[in-house]
Amino acid sequence: MKDGEYDLYNSDTAQSNSLLIVDDDKSNLMILIDILQPDYTVFTAKDGEEAVKKAQKYSPDLILLDIILPGIDGYETLTRLRELDETKKIPVVFITGLSESGSEEKGLALGAADYITKPFNPVIVKLKVIHQIKIINLQRALAAAMEKAENASEAKTRFVANMSHEMRTPMNAIVGLTGLMLEDDDIPGKTKETLEKINTAGNTLLGLINDVLDISKIEAGKLDLVPVQYDVADLLNEIIALNIVRIGEKSIIFKLDINEDMPCQLFGDDLRIKQILNNMLSNAFKYTEAGTVTLGVTATGDSTTTGGITCSGVWVTFYVRDTGIGIRGEDLTRLFADYNQVDTKANRKIEGTGLGLSITKKFVEMMDGEITVESEYGKGSTFFVRICQGFVTEEHISGETLENLRRLHYSKKKQAQEKLVRSDLSYARVLVADDFPTNLDVSSGMLRKYKMQVDCVSNGREAVDRIAAGVPVYDAVFMDHMMPEMDGMEATALIRGLGTPYAQNIPIIALTANAVAGNEQMFLENGFNAFLPKPFNVMLLDSIIQRWVRDKSKE
Ligand code: ADP
Repeated sequence: MKDGEYDLYNSDTAQSNSLLIVDDDKSNLMILIDILQPDYTVFTAKDGEEAVKKAQKYSPDLILLDIILPGIDGYETLTRLRELDETKKIPVVFITGLSESGSEEKGLALGAADYITKPFNPVIVKLKVIHQIKIINLQRALAAAMEKAENASEAKTRFVANMSHEMRTPMNAIVGLTGLMLEDDDIPGKTKETLEKINTAGNTLLGLINDVLDISKIEAGKLDLVPVQYDVADLLNEIIALNIVRIGEKSIIFKLDINEDMPCQLFGDDLRIKQILNNMLSNAFKYTEAGTVTLGVTATGDSTTTGGITCSGVWVTFYVRDTGIGIRGEDLTRLFADYNQVDTKANRKIEGTGLGLSITKKFVEMMDGEITVESEYGKGSTFFVRICQGFVTEEHISGETLENLRRLHYSKKKQAQEKLVRSDLSYARVLVADDFPTNLDVSSGMLRKYKMQVDCVSNGREAVDRIAAGVPVYDAVFMDHMMPEMDGMEATALIRGLGTPYAQNIPIIALTANAVAGNEQMFLENGFNAFLPKPFNVMLLDSIIQRWVRDKSKE
């Protein structure tokens, strides 16, 4: 046996857990080995330096460390072990002599897991080691279970994201093709009515797909807020324009109750706020047959603490009050619980999924806010949402804008959307690559509305060949992301690599149904000039065409 190598016992007796015993006194070491060797694989070291090296080499589950050692003492050894990535998590039990007063306290303060005293009592030594090993094994089992759960949750998120992609593709056909047909003034009234119903149902289903995707992202912790500076009047205008159409044939009066001192600009995730308000307002209209629906907005500027949360910006409170069916007292408590629909008997004729309020609550919580509800069954409900937004300016919404908002006259952006006037681009020729024939019908149908010539191919390889051929000359390529044989990313890289100025400069617009990876930046960094998510929004398509296809010199 070499000095310092006390690994006396052959490792055939090794058990699954291992220990490193550090003591310069051979007799102490022999006693500990006798007590522990039958149950554990034992490594030994005679001083602190060697202990650190062996801990790095063998990664023992537990270290028994004497305090008084030649060279660096036990405390210093522990400090070094804590500094190294490989050893910092290994628990250490100090070996102390009865005479070393205060050593236990110092060792525990340094992060030791426990201590054993000399002279050794074999039963106590065994029990203390068993206790530590049990903790370690439990921690490992817990970490493994967590990893398994995280993997399962990730697999679920991937599955939902894939499904949402698969669902969006046919939805693009349903919403896109009915939208195209609805623009035709010659179709008979009855057919138009049916098409409108298909189009509306398609959009509802699309909203649902987005909700499911949001939920899976929230649950996987992958949904982040994207705060920007936004115009409060624009936000309210948009949300009102979107919801007021829900009145339909019902005799409901819509009111906006807004403070004079409402800031004109705020900083926050306006898209998610729109989702919150849209959910509350759509519910109010859905569950109210007659009477009033009121949207209230107030802002408190000073930094205040309410409900334990401090907002250093502006507390914004929204409320949505309706005179609808109301909610039973016993249902109020479970209203925000995950994916619950309450009073399903009374509401059986009303479309809904119970997803909206759960998502709303999660968004509100992400904004450090809270959502509450007051309701009287049969009389109506009021939902309150309070969120913290960043301060931008002292300036308030002007009196005139406020008045227009209250009279719902602020701007008619939404209506303007429906009357899109398309430019005549009969001089242009574009190429569309998509593997799904119905998608080609939708995109080419939308592009032909501009009178341009549209050629279609069914994968990336054919698109590359067309551009490599050089004739006919295209003004732009609309390229699907996921295609068999060659996808849009690869095709775009090959086109850019063709080396001709034509191939390098031709605008390439990505088309994608993938809302998760639908990251505009990713496309822009990979040779694309613009990005259009499916289902296509005609206004977005128009702005892309104006920028990348239209050539004013040819008009
Ligand atoms: P849904 O899509 O079913 O409307 P929500 O999560 O938005 O899902 O709402 C959950 C349930 O809360 C609804 O099914 C309905 O029973 C009830 N609810 C929500 N808002 C109102 C309201 N303004 N008036 C009456 N009941 C409401």
